[in-house]
Amino acid sequence: MMNRILILISVLLFSISASAQTDSVKRNRYTLVFENPSSLTNPKVKDKVVDAFFKAYPAFARADGYRTKRKVSLTIKPSLEKVLAAKEGEILVDSAWINGNPKNIDKILEASLSSHWQLSDTTKHHGYTLVFVSKDPNLDPEVKKTLTETYFAVYPKLRKTFNKKARKDVLFVIDTAYKAVAEASDGRILFSAAYMKAHPTDIDIVTHEGMHVVQVYDYGSGPVWLTEGIADYVRYKYGYDNVGSKWYLPAYNAKQSYTNSYRVTARFFVWLEQNVKPEIIKTIDGLLRKKQYTLDSWKSLTGKTLDELWAEYGKKPNKIHLEYSDRKTGKMVVK
Ligand SMILES: [Zn+2]
Repeated sequence: MMNRILILISVLLFSISASAQTDSVKRNRYTLVFENPSSLTNPKVKDKVVDAFFKAYPAFARADGYRTKRKVSLTIKPSLEKVLAAKEGEILVDSAWINGNPKNIDKILEASLSSHWQLSDTTKHHGYTLVFVSKDPNLDPEVKKTLTETYFAVYPKLRKTFNKKARKDVLFVIDTAYKAVAEASDGRILFSAAYMKAHPTDIDIVTHEGMHVVQVYDYGSGPVWLTEGIADYVRYKYGYDNVGSKWYLPAYNAKQSYTNSYRVTARFFVWLEQNVKPEIIKTIDGLLRKKQYTLDSWKSLTGKTLDELWAEYGKKPNKIHLEYSDRKTGKMVVK
């Protein structure tokens, strides 16, 4: 009798600990946690769920923007209204449905996840693709239109000019959680929803960030001031509406340095091309991508060191012709 009771107790304890046990699968940066794995009564199903998750969730998280949860709990529920309900960090699945070994779990998961976006669409034009995702319910449709227009007007030109191996599909995300202005990585350009609301004419963020997509320099290929200086030089040269956003290169002053980056560096690069060597920035960009850029590159291309070039620029900084794109008139405006 005593033995039977002991067995009963141990069976009970075992089943309690089994039901409380979670089970997680980690791949790359993402983790799927099965909260109640024993509710998966069909043994074939678990692998299918794991495959569907790692097919759908990382792509969703990339398009979802900044700080999207990478650890996701999955709970099997006895009766759900839908077969599956998913959002960032959480997936609920109907028990009868999942144990029936359904097809297309990945597609259903993908649809459920993206149903939380305000907008998601794809535009294709002359071999280029733009996927546009917005998490901002108040995104001005005019801003969406002009950002899209800028992409198709500028990005193909940048790709053809600087790097024909650059990708032809880019993802735009208008993100409400992102607090800086904009950034580009892995073919995705994040825009701060608040910034775009406050600066709806600053559409050449697409040109600057689009150049980062084209650059794809490996980590450590060159200094940050150079990468950013090139991106603003490109905005100056290929920008779609610099007049409309009142974006101009700042006048030279003696306190500046080429390492100031962005527009200060960009103006120096324009001066270099007009006074020292045409297309030198295209050459420097190519060297960076091939991981062949060094500080000596300036000397081998021009016969002068970077510091010597900057000193020359400081002597005649206004020996430069500057003109800016104006979307309204389609003409360049001299400034
Ligand atoms: Zn940048």
